[in-house]
Amino acid sequence: MANTNSSSKLWFVLQAAVWTICLVMVVLLFVKPEIGLHAFWDVLIPVAPALVALLPGVWRNICPTAAMSQLPRHFGISKKRKMSVGTHAWLVLLSVILLFAIIPLRHTYFDLNGPATGVFLIVSTLIAIVLASIYDGKSGWCASLCPVHQVEKLYGQKPIATVGNSHCSECSKCVTGCPDSTPSASPHLGGRVWARRAATFGLIGAFPGYVWGWFQIQDYATLSAGLENIVNTYTIPIVGGAATLALYALLISSVSLQKRKIIDRFFAAAAISCYYWYRIPWLFGFSQFEGNGMLVDLSDTISPTVMTVVPYVTTAFWVWWIALKRNGLRSWMTRPPDAQTTPAPTGITISA
Ligand code: SF4
Repeated sequence: MANTNSSSKLWFVLQAAVWTICLVMVVLLFVKPEIGLHAFWDVLIPVAPALVALLPGVWRNICPTAAMSQLPRHFGISKKRKMSVGTHAWLVLLSVILLFAIIPLRHTYFDLNGPATGVFLIVSTLIAIVLASIYDGKSGWCASLCPVHQVEKLYGQKPIATVGNSHCSECSKCVTGCPDSTPSASPHLGGRVWARRAATFGLIGAFPGYVWGWFQIQDYATLSAGLENIVNTYTIPIVGGAATLALYALLISSVSLQKRKIIDRFFAAAAISCYYWYRIPWLFGFSQFEGNGMLVDLSDTISPTVMTVVPYVTTAFWVWWIALKRNGLRSWMTRPPDAQTTPAPTGITISA
């Protein structure tokens, strides 16, 4: 029990630390936007896909929006309504649509406008809190409408370790196919509802091309973005997404679900590989668009040859990790006992 208590305290400390850092970041987005934008878009966000892929359980426990959304549940003021499988599926589809709609807006608004990013984060968190105060467990946000959630299921199919669930001390079966407790969680989790299957198909197939397309566009100054530039930011990602979606449709058209999951993992590896292929060089001043997404300019310090090799190394790693490596069907988190039985521990115990 002492171990459980100390584990719970450790999660609490981690959540409080991340929450405080994010609060400072949001304040900076308004008062010192140039620092806040770098901290959010050039430090936190580049780390997030790798964390989601390698330790999705840790990410789900420390995500500040998740922690805020779970407050009504922890304070016992959530109405705990059961979400139907159909409603859940439509929220999942909406989350994928939101993901595709929001990403290009980084070029015209969010990457260059601190207050816009700050307002976006605050509004997202408020929506998460409202939904979680109505619906049971994580069904209102973390396991449905959160635009990052389907990417968690896409990238996080082979976690390094299973950790304790800091938000669910007991399981009320808030969703069908718990993403936290099901071994090898994938976007296919959930009921066989048309909307959920459409979300799964669209995300897996289109995401690699969409990510590639995003990196072919430069940032535009916010106030002079104009309708033409906004349309431009969508055009290439949509074309890229449509191309990989068509390829995905062709590849899965005549294979069993088991073989489809192998194809899914290659598409997941392609999406995250594409992200780091561009994102790491951009961070250090090697963007084809001068200064785009740059954290620190090391273009005169690091040899261009080294920066040419790095994307191949990261791609080889992600293809191996997500598509090729065996992981023994590990879940993101340990499954808590059912709500009707004994309250569960919420340890940080890691079973690797
Ligand atoms: S452990 Fe149970 S209550 Fe928690 S997210 Fe999973 S299904 Fe919902």
